[in-house]
Amino acid sequence: MSSFVFSEKPIGIERGEGVYLYDTNGNDYLDFGASYACTPVGHCHPTVVDAATDQLEELFYVQASYPHAERTRLYDRLAEIAPGDVEKVWLCNSGTEANEAALKFARHATGRSKIVATMQAFHGRTMGSLAATWKNEYKDGFGPLPAEFEFVPYGEREPLAEAVDEETAAVILEPLQGEGGINPASTEYLRSVREITEEAGAAMIADEIQTGLGRTGTTWAVEDHDVVPDVVTTAKGLASGLPIGATLVREWIAEDAGNHGSTFSGGPVVSAAANATLDVIESEKLAENATDVGAYLHEGVDELLGEEVRDVRGNGLMVGIEVKRGANALLPELALQHGVLALPAGRTVLRLLPPLTVTHEHADDVLDALEAVIG
Ligand SMILES: *Cc1c(COP(=O)(O)O)cnc(C)c1O
Repeated sequence: MSSFVFSEKPIGIERGEGVYLYDTNGNDYLDFGASYACTPVGHCHPTVVDAATDQLEELFYVQASYPHAERTRLYDRLAEIAPGDVEKVWLCNSGTEANEAALKFARHATGRSKIVATMQAFHGRTMGSLAATWKNEYKDGFGPLPAEFEFVPYGEREPLAEAVDEETAAVILEPLQGEGGINPASTEYLRSVREITEEAGAAMIADEIQTGLGRTGTTWAVEDHDVVPDVVTTAKGLASGLPIGATLVREWIAEDAGNHGSTFSGGPVVSAAANATLDVIESEKLAENATDVGAYLHEGVDELLGEEVRDVRGNGLMVGIEVKRGANALLPELALQHGVLALPAGRTVLRLLPPLTVTHEHADDVLDALEAVIG
């Protein structure tokens, strides 16, 4: 039987190693979507495999009300790498749950209900995160969604200043929009979001689920702009593909966050995998590599600019290529003829989110494939 939710591709994947995936016929693929950005350190990194399997043999699971060394270490590690004093950590199982918790905590801590989100935003598929997501395509037929969500244009100060008032619990945004088309924000804009929310007593929630953990060249994209939000959410590659999400909050939110919980909050195995993933990102200096190979890739795509390739955007190893023919027209050819897996971001943007371990040689292979398909 096939999925009734996902449209499945004609490639059965069997094995992964580093930047490559292997199908059931033995063909290899450069995984430049990093399987939805879930493999920052590459597939089956031995450090992560060892940490998770050792933990599996010791203890699969224990509820989060009993301290466990791996979970405690993950709280500490996330607090250590979090921007500024965003030091309290809630662990869950996915990106949408991390945002859901962020919205609940912000409403509770402020005693307010209005949430301001941005056009083109993507924050997840559960009811609250979906209410903060822009595209109607994702929302059709699922209403009513939670009330008091308002949208403002991404990147514009004035409409935001008008929307945020003393009834606003939070502004939620991605510091660089992913799903919505790889849309970068200026430092000036992100600083104005910080100023406006601070002045109104509202929380600034940075959804770093796609941008975080070194992908844009710094541990968090907000660091690049010297902005410290009140809440940062992360998920996707944090445990190298095991399900995890985290909501990092400042003290003023943590101390009045309300009643929240989850059965699988920071189980030992995912926590061990996350600790190992963070260790590898740090020891292999993968944020620096993201800057280096990202710039190389960006320059390579710049050479293809023209009739077919309209624009290239992004930062580090989060690259969006706007293509005239549409992303979905190119992806099957890239995969089946050239062994390159990528992702769409909306209709017209081809999105590259490779593991942060990629080299210039991998980038050359992808640039050759892109040139053959759209050059
Ligand atoms: C993927 C993503 C989410 C949702 O994460 P899930 O784990 O699929 O629930 C939320 N926000 C952003 C920016 C994402 O890229």
